[in-house]
Amino acid sequence: MVLVMVGDESLEETGLEPTHHATLDKLPGMESNYRLLFEQSLDAIGVEAPDGTVIDVNQAWLDLFGYSREDLPRINAIDLYATPADREHFVRRMAETGFVQDEVLYRRKDGTIFDCQRTQVSLKDESGAVVAYQGINRDVTENKRAEAALRESAEKYRTLFEQSMDAVALVAVDGTLMDANPAYLRLYGLDDGAIGHSNVRDRYVKPGDRGEFVRRMEQHGALLDEEVRLKKVDGTVMDCLRTSIAIRGETGRIVGFQSVVRDITQQKRAQERLRGSEERYRSLFDQSMDAIVTSASDGSNMDANQAWLDLFGYSRDELPGLNAVDMYPNPQDRGDFLRSIAKTGVLVDEEVRLKKKDGSVMDCARTVVARRDPEGSVVEWQGVIHDITSRKLAQQALKDSEERFRSLFEHSIDAIFLGTPGGTVIDVNQAWLNLFGYEREDLASLNAIDLYANPADRDDFLRRMAKTGFVQDEVLYKRKDGAVFDCQRTQVAFKDKHGNMVGFQGIMKDITQQKHDRAELERLARFDTLTGLLNRRAIMEKLDEWLRHVKRYKGRLSVAMLDLDHFKQVNDLHGHLVGDRVLADTASLVQRSVRLTDFVGRYGGEEFVVILPRTDIAGAQVMAERIRSLMENTAMDDGGGGTFSLTASLGVAERCAGDSVDTLINRADEPLYHAKAAGRNRVEVAACTEPSE
Ligand code: GH3
Ligand code: MG
Ligand code: MG
Repeated sequence: MVLVMVGDESLEETGLEPTHHATLDKLPGMESNYRLLFEQSLDAIGVEAPDGTVIDVNQAWLDLFGYSREDLPRINAIDLYATPADREHFVRRMAETGFVQDEVLYRRKDGTIFDCQRTQVSLKDESGAVVAYQGINRDVTENKRAEAALRESAEKYRTLFEQSMDAVALVAVDGTLMDANPAYLRLYGLDDGAIGHSNVRDRYVKPGDRGEFVRRMEQHGALLDEEVRLKKVDGTVMDCLRTSIAIRGETGRIVGFQSVVRDITQQKRAQERLRGSEERYRSLFDQSMDAIVTSASDGSNMDANQAWLDLFGYSRDELPGLNAVDMYPNPQDRGDFLRSIAKTGVLVDEEVRLKKKDGSVMDCARTVVARRDPEGSVVEWQGVIHDITSRKLAQQALKDSEERFRSLFEHSIDAIFLGTPGGTVIDVNQAWLNLFGYEREDLASLNAIDLYANPADRDDFLRRMAKTGFVQDEVLYKRKDGAVFDCQRTQVAFKDKHGNMVGFQGIMKDITQQKHDRAELERLARFDTLTGLLNRRAIMEKLDEWLRHVKRYKGRLSVAMLDLDHFKQVNDLHGHLVGDRVLADTASLVQRSVRLTDFVGRYGGEEFVVILPRTDIAGAQVMAERIRSLMENTAMDDGGGGTFSLTASLGVAERCAGDSVDTLINRADEPLYHAKAAGRNRVEVAACTEPSE
């Protein structure tokens, strides 16, 4: 700004001739490049003599004061002052210090007054006498007005400015921070003292960029929402969003800027992260096995991944020509979709029928999310779609089977019961009601414990259920009327997903009859139907049992074998029915002849066996003889009103050491054979060489 054009040595010959060109040319040491600088300077430069004669001025000076070069010889420096007294004051100060830097009100040729900032130095000759003043003058009227305007605008918007959350500042063209709100100071870490002193150039990461900002502001007048990197006082760099507006003076020249700055470092970071995640999502989208589709709010501008294309049967080239509406078998369905999603913006696992390219319709489950702009309008739909045709089929099958089971439940002959561990009855079928004698209305007030003949059985049941989740047993239940019955049941526990028992399902069957039948069967299996005696298997088992017992506890045991004599003739003479009755009568005759502790069995057709515990051979022989005699003296009914008599032969044997069922029976069979051979109606005894005791 300060142009030193003249060296001390050049002063000697400085004349005071009014023709400045000539004069300056004569100045020794004045180099042409200085001359050029002098001429080209945008600052107004003038040289005057102490008496006010104008020695030389440059073009900028002429422009500033409004004079032409021809005017110069006729004017005096005093003509340039708005207040002539200022010239006297100036001369005095120059004499005192040889240097003046101040502001002064000057007057143009046309009389207009303007504020001027000037720097003047005195030029002296060898003797030290001042021969000229050289000054640089700058019109600051505009600057002063701009400052005033800035101040005024700042005042006007003071409150807003102060309160704004955004950092707002007024900045002079040269970068001086003219004003700033607290948010601005906070943002950069500046203190109040910064206002009027700090230069915004220091806020730039590269201070040189400030010049570029001023150039662009001159070009555009405003820069909206530009992203810039700015620096706090502590050196932290921030990503900022800045809006700047040029403030112009009356002549239209830019006098300053108003800037609003917002720190968007966090947003930028978030955006960067988002971009990263967008890329990740993009690859998820592309790779996903799920069919994913996006479209604009009206269904246009579709994007879809390969899984979607595969599902719907389109190729990627066809996407631009598609609209989401095309996927609806009935285009009006799209309206339903928009209505149902309107409120929440999300549809989760909604079932819908969608159409493939080939026109076939599939059952789908879809999840759709609306992406909205900040005003809340839907800008995009994002959907994930699954073909659930097979799921639907499975569901239908399940439903069918449920219905089937329901009908099995209802129509089952077996009583079916569903209940809880607490005893609540959930459901029963008709067979159950029939079995227990309750009405359906009774169920609500019924507890499972009421069904037990022995309530303790229910505790036992719950214990076993908790242990294994399954109980199959027989239990005594009680009907509504109190009647107790035997029940066979199979119960299975229902568990929730945590494994807690929440209920049971059971099938119950009244087995009172079955038990009776079983007892009958068992009886049938042991007894001879014709005579009511133990049958051969049962009497042999009994003999085996006794042989073991005797072997262990020591004791006597004998057996007798009986065979009717010439029984064939009974059948032949009187018929089979009479023969049967004779067999039955013989059985009861034998049974009556023995002790209660003896056992009688039917060994074969008309052969009987008697087991005689605690009986030796002699005792057995006495018993056998009694039977033989009784047979002989008993008249048998011939079925035709008459009677006939019948005899029997008996063989008796006592158990010997080491006897088995077979050896003992054989040893009794032998004397029976001898009795037959000896003429029948006899008792023969097996010789017992070494009885067991
Ligand atoms: P023996 O004195 O030698 O014993 O002459 P028997 O006629 O008794 O001869 P045997 O013991 O060999 O014959 C048994 C006969 O008993 C044969 C069969 O007709 C008859 N019989 C066997 N079981 C039954 C039956 O349950 N009912 C009837 N009515 N007859 C039977
Ligand atoms: Mg026989
Ligand atoms: Mg016989």
